[in-house]
Amino acid sequence: MESTHKLVIKNIGLILSGALEQPILDGDTLVAIGGKIAGIGYAKDLDTGNPDTLIDAKGAALSPGLIDSHVHPVIGDYTPRQQQIGWIDSCLHGGVTTMISAGEVHLPGRPKDIVGLKAMAIASQRWYENFRPSGVKVHAGAPVIEEGMEEQDFKDLAEAGVTLLGEVGLGSVKAGDKAKRMVAWARKYGIQSTIHTGGPSIPGSGLIDKDVVLEADADIIGHINGGHTALPDDQIVCLCESCKRGIEIVHNGNERAALLAMRTAFELDQSERVILGTDAPAGSGVQPLGILRMIAMLSSLGDIPAEIAFCFATGNTARMRGLDCGLIEAGKSADFILIDTAQHAPGKDMLDSIHQGNLPGVGMTVIDGVIRSARSRNTPPATRLPEQII
Ligand SMILES: [Zn+2]
Repeated sequence: MESTHKLVIKNIGLILSGALEQPILDGDTLVAIGGKIAGIGYAKDLDTGNPDTLIDAKGAALSPGLIDSHVHPVIGDYTPRQQQIGWIDSCLHGGVTTMISAGEVHLPGRPKDIVGLKAMAIASQRWYENFRPSGVKVHAGAPVIEEGMEEQDFKDLAEAGVTLLGEVGLGSVKAGDKAKRMVAWARKYGIQSTIHTGGPSIPGSGLIDKDVVLEADADIIGHINGGHTALPDDQIVCLCESCKRGIEIVHNGNERAALLAMRTAFELDQSERVILGTDAPAGSGVQPLGILRMIAMLSSLGDIPAEIAFCFATGNTARMRGLDCGLIEAGKSADFILIDTAQHAPGKDMLDSIHQGNLPGVGMTVIDGVIRSARSRNTPPATRLPEQII
């Protein structure tokens, strides 16, 4: 990407900002230069001349690219979990432009000795930094902590570029007091942590209940609705009420528990804590439309405006995780999706259609100001399709 490359998107019908405090922005045009947002508003007020790339949105909506806060990648665009190639590309077609690893736990023969797990985390961070499948930003290299790790190990990992911990609880550290010590070391060196919440996911993983989650005090309450098995309702409510950590809801969990967690966050007036993930690849497979499905599910069954549900999958996650995407704001990464009401879907407009439980159609994805895909092969077809003019 050249630093002067100019992208102009005109005739946008609706701009979703990703920000809860103002989820819809006025305007019909967006300008990005060098892969960063330079201006948003009405065409008459912006410098739209001499674009290198010009997109006519044809009235479709623009949203920040979706962020999947909880994935388990291994290498490139291959997952051994379900022997699947191209799963990340499939998710791009579901509107996901950024993924965050909760641990590369599906690698056959994954090392569990300390030097081995550190080496693998560092290597994973590098191979996804050096290779973006279909342009998707995969933040990976998330070690699963094991008994015997010392403060120096976290310092070593941070100095080598590791910024995330894999789900606490998937390794041998399952007691709250031990997890608390290691999570604090990670935080001291700038490594963000997440904890498995709920019953075991697959044979070999274990139960993490509310007492362990609260004692460990990881930055994100990973899949608060279970992955797959949720905690009892009173424990989910207690987790939301007793701490200020991220409330992560995943597709690969209990949907009733997801709605309970979201409603509790609203009752506490803390909806900025809600973020979305899929937990894919998992035993239930890969869900290329998982984040869109979560948005439609939470909006319809949870009866919240669709534009708010989009914030859970964009700005909330970006702010919590310190990413430079997920918000339509000058200076942020030019990572977008252009979406519209699915053909023949009910609803007076796209947001109303999603609020009725229908998925939108993805018409185009853009990452760092570059078009990465046109009409999605996975969503229902969008009514209005953007077109690249230049
Ligand atoms: Zn988990």
